[in-house]
Amino acid sequence: MCGLVGIYGVPEAAKYTYFGLFALQHRGQEGAGIAVFNGKRIVEYKNLGLVSEAFNEKILQELAGDIAVGHVRYSTTGASVLQNVQPFCVKYSKKTLALAHNGNLVNAYALRCELEEEGHIFQTTLDSEVIIHLIVKYLKEGLVYAIAKTMKRIKGAYSVLLLCDDLLVAFRDPWGFRPLALGILNGGYALASETCAFDLLGAEYLRDVAPGEILVIDSNGPKSFLPFEEDPQPLSHCIFEFVYFARPDSFVFQKNVYLVRKNLGYNLFKECPLSADFVMPLPDSGTYAALGYSQASGLPLEFGVIRNHYIGRTFIQPSEKLRDLSVKMKLNPVKEFIRGKEVIVVDDSLVRGTTSKNRIRSIRLAGAKKIHFLISCPPLRYPCFFGIDFPQARELIASKHSVEEIRKFLDIDTLYYLSLEGLLDSVGELRDKVCLACFTGNYPLEVDFSFRKDITEI
Ligand code: 5GP
Ligand code: MG
Repeated sequence: MCGLVGIYGVPEAAKYTYFGLFALQHRGQEGAGIAVFNGKRIVEYKNLGLVSEAFNEKILQELAGDIAVGHVRYSTTGASVLQNVQPFCVKYSKKTLALAHNGNLVNAYALRCELEEEGHIFQTTLDSEVIIHLIVKYLKEGLVYAIAKTMKRIKGAYSVLLLCDDLLVAFRDPWGFRPLALGILNGGYALASETCAFDLLGAEYLRDVAPGEILVIDSNGPKSFLPFEEDPQPLSHCIFEFVYFARPDSFVFQKNVYLVRKNLGYNLFKECPLSADFVMPLPDSGTYAALGYSQASGLPLEFGVIRNHYIGRTFIQPSEKLRDLSVKMKLNPVKEFIRGKEVIVVDDSLVRGTTSKNRIRSIRLAGAKKIHFLISCPPLRYPCFFGIDFPQARELIASKHSVEEIRKFLDIDTLYYLSLEGLLDSVGELRDKVCLACFTGNYPLEVDFSFRKDITEI
């Protein structure tokens, strides 16, 4: 997953972009970059690490201009190296272009091979680089035509921001996998993956960039093109944005994430009403479903484990060794409180099961008498090809093991996963417009199971 910010027609655009990215930090912590049009050409700065580490005042001052795009990265294709941090910038025929992509393409490798055969030379191992190659290839006929033609060729998830000198373009795949919103900011425009970035910047939300839309912003304001008007695709918004990914104060797909997460908790109680001394979340991801469960059941909500906030999301740091270490660094049970108690522990999802096992063990060691573990989504059994870094099926614990086997593995009294119906009920009117492939294996478009994140690494 990644986060995108675009600013048009606002002085100090790079600074606004920086703060927008700061609000979207949860969407990717591997690297961050900003590209700005300085009146003549696009200049860029990218770095590994968190937004606050990647930039400083001096760097931002050098990125002068009032049109900018920015990106925070979480890798789904290509290694975690500086070269792969976006925006991806190129020069072509006296134009400078910068592209920032959220999502993952499913046919990038085939397209890349085809382009290489035609003589294209790639600089990175990103699927996103294919997009810019195609756009440039078709550019003779005009930018909008080139983007439309590219959109017809690439398959998969893409919310994209593209700077082409002094034009800011946003486009989104016709399935609408990843979010992208448009707002007004100080007489100019802002684009962001999630509306929490608008809240921080003081931008006013206007609308989402529509699935399949190309939105071109120039000095006359935004203009919309709809290359899929005749050929709409079934909407497939990623439901995992609600379950885990997005920030609870955001609206994604025009729905508030906090409320959906509370619904997940209500529905958990409806399906699995238990009695216990209290309900506790594994923070932060389990917090809002635990709150929903507590409010529906009348059981008190307690914070039985305390989170150290000064480390990033553990799942995202790529190596297995580091992940184990940071699990221990991140959460610590309040022993005095848990000792002798029967507890309902709520988390958003079980992926590999390894972090949860450690966390549950620490609650057990703190003296819990009984542990009921509730998960606010169904078993994750299938890999995601559309931008969430879910491992291959064999690493997903629920793809190989029954709920009862997982319960034994975690060494708990109850394990309950929210049903698919409970999940769908929680998103209300979006129920027919979501991608559920990680739970059902029904992919909205053809995928290649041999895909590996490092497919393009040499
Ligand atoms: P597990 O026990 O499967 O090793 O880890 C489960 C934890 O991983 C849950 O608390 C859940 O919030 C978190 N998680 C689920 N999906 C993702 C993801 O895509 N990225 C990150 N960073 N964490 C995730
Ligand atoms: Mg979590």
